[in-house]
Amino acid sequence: MTTATHEETLGFQTEVKQLLHLMINSLYSNREIFLRELVSNAADACDKLRYEALDNDAIFEGDSELRIEIEHDQQAGTITLRDNGIGMNRDEVIENLGTIARSGTSEFLKQLSGEQQKDAKLIGQFGVGFYSGFIVADDVTVRTRKAGTDHSEGVEWRSQGEGEFSVADVELERHGTEIILHLKEDAKDFADDFRIQNLVRKYSDHIDVPVRMPKTENARDDEGNEIEGSEVTTWETVNEATALWVRPKTDIEDEEYKAFYKHVAHDFSDPLTWSHNKVEGKLEYTSLLYVPGRAPFDLYERDGARGVKLYVQRVFIMDDAEQFLPLYLRFIKGVLDTRDLSLNVSRELLQQDPQVDKIKSALTKRSLDMLKKLAKDDEAYQTFWNTFGSVLKEGPAEDHANREKIAGLLRFSTTHTDSATQDQSLADYIGRMKEGQEKIYYIVADGFNATKSSPHLEIFRKKGVEVLLLHDRIDEWLMSHLTEFEGKSFVDVAKGDLDLGEVEDEDEKKAQEETAKAKEDLVKRVQDALGGDVQEVRVTHRLTDSPACVVLPEHEMGYQMRRIMEAAGQPMPEVKPILELNPEHALVTRLEGAEGEGFGDLARILLDQAVIAEGGHLDDPAAYVKRLNTLLSA
Ligand code: ADP
Ligand code: MG
Repeated sequence: MTTATHEETLGFQTEVKQLLHLMINSLYSNREIFLRELVSNAADACDKLRYEALDNDAIFEGDSELRIEIEHDQQAGTITLRDNGIGMNRDEVIENLGTIARSGTSEFLKQLSGEQQKDAKLIGQFGVGFYSGFIVADDVTVRTRKAGTDHSEGVEWRSQGEGEFSVADVELERHGTEIILHLKEDAKDFADDFRIQNLVRKYSDHIDVPVRMPKTENARDDEGNEIEGSEVTTWETVNEATALWVRPKTDIEDEEYKAFYKHVAHDFSDPLTWSHNKVEGKLEYTSLLYVPGRAPFDLYERDGARGVKLYVQRVFIMDDAEQFLPLYLRFIKGVLDTRDLSLNVSRELLQQDPQVDKIKSALTKRSLDMLKKLAKDDEAYQTFWNTFGSVLKEGPAEDHANREKIAGLLRFSTTHTDSATQDQSLADYIGRMKEGQEKIYYIVADGFNATKSSPHLEIFRKKGVEVLLLHDRIDEWLMSHLTEFEGKSFVDVAKGDLDLGEVEDEDEKKAQEETAKAKEDLVKRVQDALGGDVQEVRVTHRLTDSPACVVLPEHEMGYQMRRIMEAAGQPMPEVKPILELNPEHALVTRLEGAEGEGFGDLARILLDQAVIAEGGHLDDPAAYVKRLNTLLSA
């Protein structure tokens, strides 16, 4: 029975009129969002009733199976959404569906200009909500009754979206809200079974209230044959109807987490680990983040898919919201559900929203903590590292604030194991440091073997001082952004003067100075012979087996980085190395005794060999071979 009484016509608040006008004009290309907004409101209403019912079961009126129903009538051109949620009384209807209560509304509307494009973006800062029905409908009827009130307390609200609306008291048997959209001529195609189903799945799959649509079929007889003209209607749930991440952690099985991962990440294998967190307070969000067990094909592609699936209050907003995680964590998959953003937020708006940055730094922290936890499982962490290690190595450059944390998660090859597998942490290294050692030593080269056999390591091996062996393409760049870890600075053993600090005793240092003095003459002769090809010549104590090595000045770009820059088409200025001679070596002794052309050739052979050992290329390799052959046949 819907005899309307106490009918009145009221005007919309000015802001509502502005908003309606703007929305109808600027959201034309995105009309389907009306369904998302109305389903979202219906789900909220169910949430509210569920909450009220916690201490007053009677409020369900015997109908505690919360649900949303969507019906349509193609001929009439209508879509009807029905929920058995909390409903509204007359005052609430007037307040909620006639004004915009949210704070900041009028300031927002003041910013709006006539330019439609700009407005379309601005509108995203602001939930368009219930009024979005008017994007597709030119007549909206709402029938609602607050749960737990008398049947006579129903309200009917109606509007054409043009400045005014009417409200009347009606008798309603069901509590909750029913919204009837009379579709505009050009929006009638929304009244389609398949289309509605698709939109519900797209936007509302993980709303934890079932969204049902009627299915009409002929009844069947005992043998299963259809009975002509005997239509019966059953309700089919079209959405998944469970938002996994809103359930308490303790109720969720590992298998459920894994199944959900596969759905979110479009991956068929299990994740390595996950982290599920609910945060309340200044920021309000739930995140469920996963570390995949394998790399996607587009991990290193500039516009590869990355980021989390974004939900606002359980309503799906977008896939691949990349604004919530830094680039170096682009392998992380999962879901972010927040109350701090508007349902209509767009990618462009995410870039400007200050809340986004706050959530981003929170999720970054969560991800790093999750990895730290994963690192307790050596085998799983090694899988992670082999798969994503070189992506994580981008971290120190991108995220200065978390440099130390990221450094703790890095894994290296070192002279301790002499293994190409990167499986040693900086903490492992520090735990093995020699007494008096203050620095973390490393060497960078292309390829593991080039690092392992570098002449620069000779003194370190002799003294038993561990050196990190960096052999990834990205390593030199990584080290240019890592200056220290736990207060210990990093030192490239192939650059600058060698200072082993306390590891060397006073006697050794004194002996070195004396040798340097004794060899001053040799050094000068070599320098003259090599002319401008070296920056400096000096004697060294870093070598035990090799006669010579080349060293770069401390702040010079290393060979690896130079090659990367050159490959990228960036011409690099020539760099002149420092040649260091091992005074103990037989070839150096021989050099000292040589004269004239023989001296010059031998000096050049030592330089060329040192460059080759460094993985460098000779300008004139044939000349080197010739000199060497002359020497060999002498
Ligand atoms: P928001 O959802 O962001 O609050 P809306 O414009 O979507 O804004 O809705 C305005 C208000 O109208 C809601 O906050 C709610 O109080 C009320 N409302 C809308 N739809 C329903 C519904 N189906 N059942 C109960 N209340 C509703
Ligand atoms: Mg809403």
